[in-house]
Amino acid sequence: THFGFTDVPESEKAGRVQGVFTSVASKYDVMNDAMSFGVHRIWKDAMMDWLAPRPGQQLLDVAGGTGDISFKFLKRAGHGHSTVLDITESMLVEGRQRAEAGAMGDSLDWVVGDAMALPFADNTFDVYTISFGIRNVTRPQEALNEAYRVLKPGGRLMVLEFSQIPNEMMQKVYDLYSFNVIPKMGKAIANDADSYQYLVESIRKFPDQDTFLSMVRAAGFENTKYRNLTMGVACLHSGWKI
Ligand code: SAM
Repeated sequence: THFGFTDVPESEKAGRVQGVFTSVASKYDVMNDAMSFGVHRIWKDAMMDWLAPRPGQQLLDVAGGTGDISFKFLKRAGHGHSTVLDITESMLVEGRQRAEAGAMGDSLDWVVGDAMALPFADNTFDVYTISFGIRNVTRPQEALNEAYRVLKPGGRLMVLEFSQIPNEMMQKVYDLYSFNVIPKMGKAIANDADSYQYLVESIRKFPDQDTFLSMVRAAGFENTKYRNLTMGVACLHSGWKI
């Protein structure tokens, strides 16, 4: 198999990732629905069910992109505040426009920054989320360490990410779909096959559920657990800073 795109040197990964998301930003929400047949919405709702947002909570939504997680969180919490951080400014610009259209602007801040070096003090947030973001970070362990640092004691981490399907036959079916269909859809809808080729490769390379769970623990989190979504196509990891 040719994994050319993701076999770039570590020093180049961040630049490539930013290139991908800058080029897809304006089509990101449409493509998300198309490629997952809308299932990403169900996964994000499952994340909210487990997270159970409460009124007044301060969320940090890292790799927050166009704001999906923050919007859902604030809606469920009733009132609260979310800081959406992303390394790609054009994704945040899309999100901000959505927030203004939905009159949610006051409860949100938009910050350009890197998950591996968060521009916030220790013990700042009640909840840290990262949804379909950590796979794109050059050194995911550093992002988890930073999550631990900026959460208050008693704070909660939740990660939503593509994962590995434990059933081998289902994994093969899924690989066929993703390696063949997704780049073609990317070409048809966004005229950008390369970005979606990157997406598929980065999914396949990401650590499996148990490996990632041990990384969450290594960052210092306790009561760590995961839940598979859609047979392991995606997965939620949860941990607490005690
Ligand atoms: N969270 C949103 C969602 O679930 O729809 C957006 C996810 S999008 C697939 C991945 C996002 O990760 C992109 O907006 C990208 O710019 C961002 N990203 C990649 N590397 C990052 C980093 N090191 N720090 C912060 N954000 C990063």
